[in-house]
Amino acid sequence: MPILVQKFGGTSVANAEKIKRAAQRAIRAQQQGNQVVVVASARGQQTDELIADAKEVNPNPPKREMDMLLSTGEQQTVSLLAMAVEGMGHKAVSFTGAQVRMMTDDSYTRARIKSIDGSVIKKKLNEGYIVFVAGFQGMDDEGNITTLGRGGSDTSAVALAAALGASFCEIYTDVDGIYTADPRIFKNAVKMKQISYDEILELASLGAGVMHSRSIEFGKKYNVTIHVRSSMNENEGTYITHEVPQMEGILVSGATVQKELTKITMNGVDNKPGISARIFEHLAADKVIVNDIIQTEISTEKANVSFTVSKSDMLTARETIEKIRGQVHCDTVFVREDIAEVSVVGVGMRSHYGVANIMFKALADLKINIEAITTSEIRISCLVDIKEAMKAYEAVCNAFELDKTVEKRKQPK
Ligand code: ADP
Ligand code: ASP
Ligand code: MG
Repeated sequence: MPILVQKFGGTSVANAEKIKRAAQRAIRAQQQGNQVVVVASARGQQTDELIADAKEVNPNPPKREMDMLLSTGEQQTVSLLAMAVEGMGHKAVSFTGAQVRMMTDDSYTRARIKSIDGSVIKKKLNEGYIVFVAGFQGMDDEGNITTLGRGGSDTSAVALAAALGASFCEIYTDVDGIYTADPRIFKNAVKMKQISYDEILELASLGAGVMHSRSIEFGKKYNVTIHVRSSMNENEGTYITHEVPQMEGILVSGATVQKELTKITMNGVDNKPGISARIFEHLAADKVIVNDIIQTEISTEKANVSFTVSKSDMLTARETIEKIRGQVHCDTVFVREDIAEVSVVGVGMRSHYGVANIMFKALADLKINIEAITTSEIRISCLVDIKEAMKAYEAVCNAFELDKTVEKRKQPK
């Protein structure tokens, strides 16, 4: 019998009615001939509420204790789901991440999955149970509870699908698929039927909150087709797969805007071998995740190094930089918190010219200053002042016709 993994996000299990609806969906999937594993997130805004509770007793809570606290949200959801299914006359059992041996490293609040022992789940599936697993959490080698970072239940689900040999994972959420842009911000965004792992990975890493980026890495590596769809209706959502028809013909598949960023610039560091290695080695040792890096030579002796980090890493990054600025003879450190990054992503960029200038012109027409540019083979990102971020995002979405389905867009040269 095929194994199907379904994942329900926070809004999809926010109250008793939604819990029952999710339970019915799982039962239906079982009746259709699948062995069903359901991964669930904490209900509604519960994770945010727990974080607020922690901050009330300690503004800087220890990360290990944070994970102890946050993991309780998901545990509540899965037990309620299992009760709902039992109440409907079917067999159900719930587990925490630790109980199914979802093993992670010990980076509390942003742990990475190392291995999963599928045997506990498989045994229950073979006995006819629907198995509910708490998302977002795991356990390190010492038995401490860890969490995978905000939005991490997607990763729990796809990683479980991979570990159990399931070829499909359904992600039930509050939108009916992946759109060309965040539909809450760009109202005219359109839903995509399909998207490649490479593109959604890039979009997710650049702030498209609809999927946790690590989940895409698992999907791509272990060939799990991911279907992102609404928990409120039966519509087909968006399929994430390797190959998408017309892929090369689509210049830009989607756009993102990321506001929770800080740019740190170290002006006048030594222009010598090993300087960047030293800076980023220290940041890595302090577990700071660095997004984009720009280094430029300003004279034969000196260079400027800029990088962006998420706001949550800003304090740690600043402390690290203060520790080592003497070693690299940095003249001044400049920190900008009021910036945002607008990005466009598309595999079609590989084979077409003139993509970057469409983006730059859209911003220039609105007199929006571009404060830094970074590119990869399939994306272009511009840093802009946070006050202009929404205007810039909308202009870029319109410039690439992200309000139209692919068939209706002008064909790229
Ligand atoms: P869940 O709790 O189900 O995991 P999330 O809030 O994490 O849901 O993700 C769904 C939200 O992602 C949507 O409500 C939407 O605002 C946001 N989002 C951002 N970018 C996109 C996009 N490109 N397509 C669809 N949704 C997006
Ligand atoms: N409950 C967690 C969060 O809010 C994990 C998730 O929703 O995926 O970030
Ligand atoms: Mg999510």
